[in-house]
Amino acid sequence: MAAVVVDGNKLAQEVLSEISAKLEGASPKPTLAFVLVGKNHASEIYAKKKAEDCRKVGINSLLVRLPASFTQAQIINKIRELNADQNVDGIIVQLPLPPKIDENKIIEEISPHKDVDGFHPYNFGNTALGVGKIAPCTAAGVVYLLKKSGIKLEGKHAVVVGRSRIVGKPLSLMLLNENCTVTVCHSKTKGLPKYTRQADIVCMAVGKPRMLKASMIKKGAIVIDIGINREGEKLVGDVDFGPVSRKASLITPVPGGVGPMTRAMLIKNTFECYRMRRMENDSKKLS
Ligand code: NDP
Repeated sequence: MAAVVVDGNKLAQEVLSEISAKLEGASPKPTLAFVLVGKNHASEIYAKKKAEDCRKVGINSLLVRLPASFTQAQIINKIRELNADQNVDGIIVQLPLPPKIDENKIIEEISPHKDVDGFHPYNFGNTALGVGKIAPCTAAGVVYLLKKSGIKLEGKHAVVVGRSRIVGKPLSLMLLNENCTVTVCHSKTKGLPKYTRQADIVCMAVGKPRMLKASMIKKGAIVIDIGINREGEKLVGDVDFGPVSRKASLITPVPGGVGPMTRAMLIKNTFECYRMRRMENDSKKLS
């Protein structure tokens, strides 16, 4: 039997509607600042889509364009300004940054209270510990999507392929916190199929088109495709969708699976930053 194909757009819309209802009548509205350094076509498109989501739910967006010639110190100064700006609730520095800039240093400069991507070591640490409200968006989106699809995570063997700071690592930690047994694979893993074939849940976060073949999963596995690869005008995931969907029990498509969930979690994180900073007193901020 063919797998259930998860409708990420529908689930994401539910999250956006919830946030929109919570923000009804809120004054002032939250403001999310987008920092774009230099010109990057993909970053421009991502920022535009995120700003559109903000508009839909009643979050103001503030576009901060910095020239590619800006030094690391100049970018850091701008982030410090945004950290201090009481009207700004969330800050996104759109990655990638120009090669001369140390991305980690920039991420560390964003106030953890405004770190809507959830990449700051403080929020990452909380995510690893299974506490806190701000988790990296894609990982949070995957866990949300699995739960909303009725998957009982406890006791499942999850194999996460990819261990990046923004996707694979936080996802493996979040699944561990959900009581999955987690195996993490990466470019130095020897004999990948022997791991993926044991998985109840396979999460692909590599960036290689159609890498996961049907022969690499067991029958009835749950397959989460996080990869986004461009083939001309078309987007494809890391999963060989047709054959894999005939063997899996549940699968996410690309596009329309994890991508919209990532954006929805960004909106949710922005709301949480706003709520924690504006609606709770200082002593509760870090709880
Ligand atoms: P990175 O390039 O940072 O990480 C890729 C990971 O894949 C690394 O851990 C790497 O291992 C691993 N890898 C590379 N080759 C292999 C291989 N042959 N076998 C096993 N593992 C391998 O990418 P990201 O984590 O940032 O993104 C991964 C994909 O997810 C991309 O396609 C990206 O576009 C997409 N993405 C999608 C999002 C969404 O919302 N759907 C959000 C963010 C990203 P090693 O660590 O050893 O180098």
